[in-house]
Amino acid sequence: MVKSEKELRQDIVDIGKLVYQKGWVAANDGNISIRLDANKILCTCTNISKGMMTVDDLIICDIEGNKIEGSRERTSEIAMHLTIYQMRPDIRSVLHAHPPVATGYAVAGRPLNLALLPEVIIGLGSVPLADYGLPGTPALTEGMLPYIPKYDAILMGNHGSVAYGEDVYKAFFKMETVEHFARISLVAELLGGAKVLPRDEVNKLFESRTRYGVKSNTSMEPGNPVVAEDVQPAQERFQITRQELIALVDEALRARGVLA
Ligand SMILES: [Zn+2]
Repeated sequence: MVKSEKELRQDIVDIGKLVYQKGWVAANDGNISIRLDANKILCTCTNISKGMMTVDDLIICDIEGNKIEGSRERTSEIAMHLTIYQMRPDIRSVLHAHPPVATGYAVAGRPLNLALLPEVIIGLGSVPLADYGLPGTPALTEGMLPYIPKYDAILMGNHGSVAYGEDVYKAFFKMETVEHFARISLVAELLGGAKVLPRDEVNKLFESRTRYGVKSNTSMEPGNPVVAEDVQPAQERFQITRQELIALVDEALRARGVLA
């Protein structure tokens, strides 16, 4: 069933409330858009809390980003939405926010690219990290360009994250998966580090997508996601007692003639 523009306006207002209630934005952060047709994008305006919008606060832009309807001003981040629509004809909605744990990873310069959770691997593959770009300028999207065709959610360096899908709910659920994945990854790190799944298990998850009816542009390739075989050397851990450590140091010092 094709939704009317009125219904789609309400969808953006509803999703804006959820994004705000979940704490993925502060003040007037974030933006949401829906592609109405080949040349019309319905989007949130600038200078408004995404949790406190009405359907009349939304504006309509053409595919070049020029405002064609609405009394409020367009967001400067509309260019990022337009780039995604231009590069991905399958996408009808884009959601940008600053969910705190995922953004923490983006600020720390860490992609969410480890093969850890079946739902994330099936739904997103992994979440890459795009280089920082000054908001409101073309630099914001430059770092994202290599990732847009292959991924459905991207972390934006020192900024936030963006997710997109066939409708605004799918974009929202992808963002929710990203933030949930970030929270779980953080807890695993606090508990001593996550155990990464091996390649053959990740393969099986990618193959199961047809069974679950998951449509995605992402396919398994080196680094998407990072599998156990890729991280084995770095993950190798061993334990020794304090006494054994002292003995090892003493032995090394003796070998160098520092200790008698
Ligand atoms: Zn932002």
